[in-house]
Amino acid sequence: MSAVACTREPVSWLRLERYALGELGADAARAIEVHVAECAACRGCLERIWGDDRPLPRLVLKRKPETLFDYRFEDFELLDYYAHGSIKAPIAV
Ligand SMILES: [Zn+2]
Repeated sequence: MSAVACTREPVSWLRLERYALGELGADAARAIEVHVAECAACRGCLERIWGDDRPLPRLVLKRKPETLFDYRFEDFELLDYYAHGSIKAPIAV
């Protein structure tokens, strides 16, 4: 986990992952690049994402009901999920 905190509006982990996967548009990707160039905390998070070689989690459907509306919480199982650490940032109270 990064010891420094984001000093600007933090970039979410999901957004950093989408950036790393090349899923963001040019403007959004450029905004991430500007942010991580100036923010050691978010740059550290992005480096952790790039260095992460664990597989993506898998979503297993344990039952296939007749209609979409018949699904229940118990019908889904998330495998190989792990949570990353938080991105520290100042918050307003
Ligand atoms: Zn930041």
